[in-house]
Amino acid sequence: MSLRATLDFLLNDWLCVDELCARSRHAEHSHDTFTAVLDLSEKIAAEQFAPINRLIDVQEPEFDGERVHLPPQTPIALQAFNDAGLMAASKDEAVGGLQLPTVVEIASMSFFYQASVGLAAYPMLTRGNANTILAHGSPHQIEVFARPGFEGRTFGTMCLSEPQAGSSLSDIATRAVPDVQPAGISAATQSDEHGDWQSDPLGPRYRLTGHKMWISGGEHEMGENIHHLVLAKIPGADGKFVPGVKGISLFIVPRKLVQADGRVTEQRNDVSLAGLNHKCGYRGTVNTLLNFGEGRFPVNGQAGAIGYRVGEAGQGLKYMFTLMNEARISVGLGATMLGHAGYQASLDYARQRPQGRPIGVGGKDHSARQVPIIEHTDVKRMLLQQKAIVEGGLALGLLCARLVDEQHTGSPEQAQQAGLLLELLTPIAKSWPSEWAQEANSQAIQVLGGYGYTRDFPVEQYWRDNRLNMIHEGTHGIQGLDLLGRKVVMNNGQALAVLAERIQETVQAAAQVDGLAQHAKALGQALHKVGQATQAAWATGVPEEALANATPYLQAFGHTVLAWIWLELALAAQGQKGAASRASSDAAFLQGKRAACDYFFHYELPKIDAWLGVVSRRDMTCAHAPIDGF
Ligand SMILES: Cc1cc2nc3c(=O)[nH]c(=O)nc-3n(C[C@H](O)[C@H](O)[C@H](O)COP(=O)(O)OP(=O)(O)OC[C@H]3O[C@@H](n4cnc5c(N)ncnc54)[C@H](O)[C@@H]3O)c2cc1C
Repeated sequence: MSLRATLDFLLNDWLCVDELCARSRHAEHSHDTFTAVLDLSEKIAAEQFAPINRLIDVQEPEFDGERVHLPPQTPIALQAFNDAGLMAASKDEAVGGLQLPTVVEIASMSFFYQASVGLAAYPMLTRGNANTILAHGSPHQIEVFARPGFEGRTFGTMCLSEPQAGSSLSDIATRAVPDVQPAGISAATQSDEHGDWQSDPLGPRYRLTGHKMWISGGEHEMGENIHHLVLAKIPGADGKFVPGVKGISLFIVPRKLVQADGRVTEQRNDVSLAGLNHKCGYRGTVNTLLNFGEGRFPVNGQAGAIGYRVGEAGQGLKYMFTLMNEARISVGLGATMLGHAGYQASLDYARQRPQGRPIGVGGKDHSARQVPIIEHTDVKRMLLQQKAIVEGGLALGLLCARLVDEQHTGSPEQAQQAGLLLELLTPIAKSWPSEWAQEANSQAIQVLGGYGYTRDFPVEQYWRDNRLNMIHEGTHGIQGLDLLGRKVVMNNGQALAVLAERIQETVQAAAQVDGLAQHAKALGQALHKVGQATQAAWATGVPEEALANATPYLQAFGHTVLAWIWLELALAAQGQKGAASRASSDAAFLQGKRAACDYFFHYELPKIDAWLGVVSRRDMTCAHAPIDGF
C-alpha cells in the first residue's frame, strides 16, 4: 500500500480532517484544497527531494576555512519547497500563511521526510525558529525575522546545546551583556542613532559570547540570511549567572547584520564557524560548532555577537519549550518516515528477490522454482513488523497534529483536553518512532540480506539517518524522565485520566466487533497494568526509585498507546470509527490493516510485561550497579 493511500485513510477515514473546514480559521479550505496540497507536496518531494537523497549523503558539507560548500542541488530543492508556499502552510494569512490545519501541514511534511530527511531538516528548523519568534517576539521582530523565514527567504537555527551542556541546559555558559555603545557612535546595526541598547527597534540589544555545539544549519550561503535563535544567560550586577534555567534568555542573532527596516547588510555579525561535525547520517544537513563573539568579525570594532532579546529576560527556555510539542512531533514523524522509506524499499525488494523454496508437508522440493522471499513466513514477519511500526507511528504523529488543531480551534473543553493529551503524548510521539522506526530500518536491511548492508541500496542510509532521532530534541532517557517524572503525575494525573478515558472508549467499541474483542480485552488489561505500574513506581515517593526504570516505562507506555492506535485503525478500516466511508470491499487494504493490528497485539504488546515488571518493583539493579564494577 502506498504512503498516499495510508495517508488518505488516516486523514479522511480516521481523523475526519474535512470537518475542520467548518471552523472559521479554515473556512477558505475544503477537501479539494487539502488534496491539492498533498498532491503538490508528493510531487515536489518525488521530483526534487528523493532524487538527491543519496547525493547529499555522499557529498557531505565541506568547510574550506572561509565558506561552507553544499551540493548545488540542495538550494534548488529547497527553493521548490519554498516556492510552493509550504513553509507557512498552517500560519496566519497575516504572516503569509495558508491557514491550513496543522494536521494537513504535518501530512504534507511526511512526503519530504520520507524523500530526504537531510533536506527536510532545513525547512523544519526554519519553521520552528520563525514559529518561536511569532509566538514570543515583538511585532517588529516578527516582521523582520519571522516573516522572511516563513517566506523562505532566510534560514533559521535553534542554538541551545553547548559542548558542556546538552541534556542539562541549565548549565549553558553563553553570556549576553547589554550592548551599551558610547553616545554618538552609530550602532553597528544602524538601527538606532543614540546607541541606546534598550530602545533598538529590533529589540533590546546585547553582545553574546560563547560556543554552541551541534547547531544544524548553522552556516551556509543559502538564502538572504541565517537567523540564529540562541539561549544565553545575562549575568547579574555581580557578574554571576543566576543558577538553573531561570537565568536563561532568548536572543535572535542574525548571521549578517540587519537594519531596523529589515534590510540585510553585507556586514557579518560576530558569529563564526569553528568547524563542522561529521555525522553518521543526516549528512545533508550541515552541522556546526559556532563561536559567538570571539572577535573574528568584530562589530563596531568590538568582539561580541549582536543579539536581540526576545520577550522578557529569564524566560528563554520557557519560550523555547512552548514550541517543543510541534518540534517533537516533527522529530517523531521524521523517524517514522525514514522507517516508512525502508519499509517500502524492502517490500519492493521482497516481492522481486527469488530465494529458497517453501517448506511443504514433505519438506522442500528442490526441483521447484525458487519463490520470491516475500512468501517466506519470516520475511513476512519482518515486513509486518515494519508496517505495524511505521503506519502506527504515522497515525500517532497525525493524531498529535490533530490535537494541536483542537488546541487552536476547538471548543474550550476540546482545547483543554487536547492540551492535556498533547502534554502526555509528546514524549511518546518523539521517542516511540525514534526507537521503533529505527528497529524497522534494521529489519529493512535484514530483508535485503547482504545487499541491504551495501551502499548500492538505500536502506543502510535510512538506518544511519534515523539513528539521530533518539538523541536530539531530548534524548530517549530524558523523554522517559519527562513522562514518568512529570507528565503522568502532573495535575494529580489529570492527563493520564483523559488518555485512559479515550482508550476505554475504544476498548468498549472494539469489544462489540467481531474479531477485535480479544484485542479490546488485551488493551484494557495493558491500560490497567500501566496505571498500576505508575502507582507502584511512585509508591514510596522517592524519585530515585520511581525513576530508576523510566526508560522501560516509556517503552511500555508507548506500546500501549500504539496498541490503542492500532485498534482505532482496525475499527476505522472496518467502517466502525471515523468517517465510516471506507469501502469494506477494499479487501487487500482491510486485510493489511488487520494483519498489522494482529501483529501488534500478538508480538509487540506482550513485551510490556517485562518492561513494567522492573518499574513496578522499583528494580534498583541499574541504580545500584557499582560504578567500579563496570
Ligand atoms: C546531528 C545532531 C544535530 C543536532 N542539532 C541541534 C541543534 O540544531 N540545536 C541544538 O541546540 N542542539 C542540537 N543537537 C544537540 C542535541 O540536542 C544533544 O546532542 C542532546 O540534547 C544530548 O546532549 P549531549 O549530546 O550533550 O549528550 P548528554 O547530555 O551528555 O547525554 C549523554 C547520555 O547521557 C544521558 N543523560 C544525560 N543526562 C542524564 C540524566 N540527567 N539522567 C539520565 N540520563 C542522562 C543521555 O540520555 C545520553 O544518553 C544536535 C545533535 C546532533 C547529534
